[in-house]
Amino acid sequence: MDGAALAARIRQELKGEIAGLGHIGLATVLVGDDPASDIYIRRKHRAADEVGIEAIDKRLPATTPDEEALELVEELNEDDSVDGILVQTPLPDQIDEARVMRAIDPIKDVDGLNPFNAGQLYLGRQTLAPATPLGVMQFLHEYKIPTTGARAVVVGRSALVGKPLSMLLLQANATVTICHSRTQELARHTLGADILVAATGSPGLITADMVKRGATVVDVGITRTPDGLRGDVDPAVAEVAAFLTPVPGGVGPMTIAALLGNAVRAARYRSGLLAFPRI
Ligand code: NAP
Repeated sequence: MDGAALAARIRQELKGEIAGLGHIGLATVLVGDDPASDIYIRRKHRAADEVGIEAIDKRLPATTPDEEALELVEELNEDDSVDGILVQTPLPDQIDEARVMRAIDPIKDVDGLNPFNAGQLYLGRQTLAPATPLGVMQFLHEYKIPTTGARAVVVGRSALVGKPLSMLLLQANATVTICHSRTQELARHTLGADILVAATGSPGLITADMVKRGATVVDVGITRTPDGLRGDVDPAVAEVAAFLTPVPGGVGPMTIAALLGNAVRAARYRSGLLAFPRI
C-alpha cells in the first residue's frame, strides 16, 4: 500500500477545499530541541504550507516550567487566527503532559488528545481523532479492505496510536484485539488477524511466521537504526501478506495528510459549517 501516493492525492483534494474556506491557521508547539520532534514539526509545516494552511511555529526552551507551557496553550486557544493546536510529544519531564492536553480547547485539538475528544471517540461519537489512526483507516478504505466482521489485531496501546485506532476499528465493525508488551504468546493473536497493525517501535517485531496468509498488515512503527529507518514489521512479511505498508512511505505521509484534514475539520467546526458538540 503506497502511503506517499495516497497522501499526495489527499493533500491535493484538501487544497481545493482549503481554497474555498479562507484562512486556516495550524499552530504547533515544540518544547525543547529533540531532533526527531524538530524533523516531524518541519514536515508538518512544509505540508501545511503546500496546501495553503498557515503553519504557526511556537517553540519554548527545554527548561520551560509547566505554567508557561499552559500559558502558551491558553494564548493559542484565545487567538482567533488559530484553528488547530498541536503540542508535539514527548514533553520534557517537568511538564505535566496530561494537563497540557486538557488545556487545549477541544474544538482546536487536532491531535485528538484532549479527554473530551478521546472520550467522544470512546463513545463512538468521533469528533477530532488522532491523525495516525485516521491515516490507517484511510489506507483500509482506499484499498477496500473489509473491516466489518474482520478480525483486527492492534499491537500497541498508546493514547496516540494503539488505543484510538482500536476504537476506530471497532466503530468500523471489526472484532478488535489489543496486544502490548505484557501480552503472552503474541503470535497466537497475530496469526488470527485479517488486519494486523503494528505500532510498537520495536523494529522487526512482526515476522512472517506471525502473519496469516492473505492478511492486511499496517506498519506504524518507525525506528532510526544504524541501518536506516526500520518498521515494526520484518520485510519478509511481504511474502505472506496480501497488503503491506512500507516504511518509510507508508503510515508516515498518511499521518501528515490526516493532520491537515483535522486542521480543515477544526476550521469547519469553528466557522459553524460543522456542529461541534458542546454541553
Ligand atoms: P509508545 O507510546 O512507545 O507505545 C508503544 C506500544 O507498543 C506500547 O503499548 C507497548 O506496550 C507496545 N510494545 C512495545 N514493545 C512491544 C513488544 N515487544 N511486544 C508487544 N507490544 C510492545 O509508542 P507510539 O507513540 O504508540 O508509537 C509506536 C511506534 O509508531 C513508534 O515507532 C513511533 O515512532 C511510531 N509512530 C509513527 C507515526 C507515523 O506517523 N508513522 C506516528 C506515531 C507513532 P506497553 O503499553 O505494555 O508498554
